Amino acid sequence: MSTTIDTTTTTSPAPEPASGLTVIPHIIGGERIAADGRTGAVFNPATGAQTGEVALASAALVHEAARTAQAAQRGWRATGLGKRQQVMFRLREIIASRAEELARIITAEHGKTVPDALGEVTRGLENVEFCTSLMHHLKGEYSEQVASGVDVHQVRQPVGVVACITPFNFPAMVPLWMVTTAIAAGNAVILKPSERDPSAANWIADAFAEAGLPAGILNVVHGDKEAVDAILDDEIIRAVSFVGSTPIAKYIYTRAAENGKRVQALGGAKNHMIVMPDADLDSAADAAISAGYGSAGERCMAVSVVVAVGDVADDLVAKIAERMPAVTVGDGTAPGIEMGPLITRDALDRVTGFVAGAEAEGARVVVDGRELDTPGDGFFIGPSLVDEVAPGMRVYDEEIFGPVLSVVRVANYDEAVDLINANRYANGTAVFTRDGKTARQFEFDIEVGMVGINVPIPVPVGAFSFGGWKDSLFGDTHMYGAEAFQFYTRRKVVTTRWPDPSESQISLGFPTH
Ligand code: NAD
Repeated sequence: MSTTIDTTTTTSPAPEPASGLTVIPHIIGGERIAADGRTGAVFNPATGAQTGEVALASAALVHEAARTAQAAQRGWRATGLGKRQQVMFRLREIIASRAEELARIITAEHGKTVPDALGEVTRGLENVEFCTSLMHHLKGEYSEQVASGVDVHQVRQPVGVVACITPFNFPAMVPLWMVTTAIAAGNAVILKPSERDPSAANWIADAFAEAGLPAGILNVVHGDKEAVDAILDDEIIRAVSFVGSTPIAKYIYTRAAENGKRVQALGGAKNHMIVMPDADLDSAADAAISAGYGSAGERCMAVSVVVAVGDVADDLVAKIAERMPAVTVGDGTAPGIEMGPLITRDALDRVTGFVAGAEAEGARVVVDGRELDTPGDGFFIGPSLVDEVAPGMRVYDEEIFGPVLSVVRVANYDEAVDLINANRYANGTAVFTRDGKTARQFEFDIEVGMVGINVPIPVPVGAFSFGGWKDSLFGDTHMYGAEAFQFYTRRKVVTTRWPDPSESQISLGFPTH
């Protein structure tokens, strides 16, 4: 059962784009704003057909949105925390009760299966639930009598207007990670979602409005580099949260920081899963398939490299390969489909190139996803398994972001750890073992932000925070959870004294206790 809400209507008629399709508008100050110039094509990746056009904001429109947000934020900041919490409770109910509606919007533009999209909505909802306790998360601190008759307290105040720039692969979850906490903390937000699957962001903005969020607190500005650059240079915007690929994350971090903004920029990944000789190989093979090919490998926490330790490689590769024909690939709206298409034709060409290149570089293509036969023009490729991969090969060194599992064979645990620690990415990793001592040592040794012990996709629950190390995160605070409240607030420390006038005196010395 699903009802639909209109994500395309505009208050002023959109100019007719060349495609004849309606333009997906911005939402600024509670109004739907038509394209002020350029538009970009939006596709259904399962059919390859263009289904819409998205407005691509000019720099002038971004600056206007920032001014709108700034004006609205003054009132939101002054709104009682209890009232803010009520918005979060209502938002939670709206999203939970209409999750399938949002999931289908995601599938239509991203291509992931509807159950997978529902999983994304559920994980995004975790953060909304965390934010229903915003009064607790925003609590300050108080120290009595730090000196005679002197008390100190510390409060957390919003940074003001913040921008959230999000990737295509989680068009609902990542915006919910960012905007919910930023708003709970009293900020106003400019959300710049991926231009490839923009409609989920508009749905979320509508849900917030229905939950009672005042107009202008959550503004959706669609766009590409022009809009992002305007965000990075806008003086009103005080903080930037970004999730996307490593080169863009680094660019965002550098330019935003140069302009004096607080910034957290999460980048790409190359996640390794170690399989120790004592691991249960059937469980490890199941985990590799699930984490490698789920969402067609387009997850920043997808397993990309299986590290086979000691003599497990032959058996493990055979067990993974024998499971692969059972993975059903097709339109993500069809029942029983487990893996959908890639996001664009460019992504398909890129992933195809990695498989072809691996063969040329001397790796062994055990299962070749290029052989998949799907009808129509969708951006499909089947799952691939590539054995005998090594550092120095493109298939190992670069982030593929597609359904390609590489197998690297190593002699022992130390070699496995050295391999992972030498990699420039450090988002997630996992070890499969039945030995607690090995698992504990792995947790101690590994230089990666999120670690799974017999858990292939260790995305932390909403009460913790999400973030990688090294080239997977530029900045020092992670997303959602307590760290996000830290990122979206500034601490102010107040020192108080109520002296008797008779105690007043002049003293030019530096105050001590
Ligand atoms: P992307 O870097 O291409 O785009 C992310 C955002 O940046 C989009 O909003 C896009 O419009 C904008 N952008 C793109 N090019 C830009 C440019 N030249 N200048 C300014 N802005 C630009 O990433 P993507 O393809 O949408 O998403 C996939 C990537 O995101 C993968 O690398 C994946 O690993 C990563 N990712 C990381 C995490 C994480 O938590 N670390 C989570 C999800 C995705």
